[in-house]
Amino acid sequence: MNVSKANSVAVRLDKVRFTYGDAAMRFDVECRAGAVTAVMGPSGSGKSTLLNLVAGFETPAAGRVLIGGEDVTGLPPAARPVSMVFQENNLFAHLDVRKNVGLGRSPSLRLDEADDMAIAEALWRTGLSGKEHRLPRELSGGERQRVALARVLVRNRPVLLLDEPFGSLGPALRSDMLELLLGLQAERRMTTLFVTHQPEDARRVADEVVFLEQGVVVAAGATDSFFADGAPEAFRRYIGSDFTKFARKPT
Ligand code: ADP
Ligand code: MG
Repeated sequence: MNVSKANSVAVRLDKVRFTYGDAAMRFDVECRAGAVTAVMGPSGSGKSTLLNLVAGFETPAAGRVLIGGEDVTGLPPAARPVSMVFQENNLFAHLDVRKNVGLGRSPSLRLDEADDMAIAEALWRTGLSGKEHRLPRELSGGERQRVALARVLVRNRPVLLLDEPFGSLGPALRSDMLELLLGLQAERRMTTLFVTHQPEDARRVADEVVFLEQGVVVAAGATDSFFADGAPEAFRRYIGSDFTKFARKPT
């Protein structure tokens, strides 16, 4: 099951152009193979659009999307080597936990014994053993996001797109989820794009940061360089007066 680092793939948006009404976006950026890249920026700056372009939910007007060097621009979402987790509504309300996770193995839910073993292992890894037969409405918000992560595990795709996945959870739960994510990441080395508004979360899990403003990447680099003297000016402005707090080395 282990995907070694050697199998990790880079994600690249090559001169991608995309427009919603009068919001013109232009993405030219590469996310390193096997690394976690925090995608940050003000609301409306294009973070979700960037992820949707990688997932294939949106198609560029110009330019290419490359995954592991392969041009996937013309491929539908299902044909891309990608899993995505949103802030909410990741689950089908009428399917129990086992089936919601099982969708990551088989969209028709024809699950054989090997699938069931993979599902059981993923549920164990995400702390959901015993909850196989619950419906989403019988779970807490944190548990629902764990189910979404369990589905990511059984799908076993090399690219993981997370669009504010823990944004609606309280601080303690968010911290638990980040811990879980770090554990899964250490094992799978998925190339992960992680949209977050929380500087402390980016610091904790991301190797690199991509910072957007008005549909353009205005800064990109190692996370450490974003939380140190000489951090990109646009990022400092975004964080505001709290910058020194986040920039302080953890003790
Ligand atoms: P973010 O995720 O950073 O908040 P988005 O990618 O959602 O930003 O949005 C980028 C820009 O595209 C914004 O100006 C937003 O208003 C616009 N936009 C996003 N989704 C749509 C849509 N479905 N229809 C029209 N405009 C949209
Ligand atoms: Mg968004």
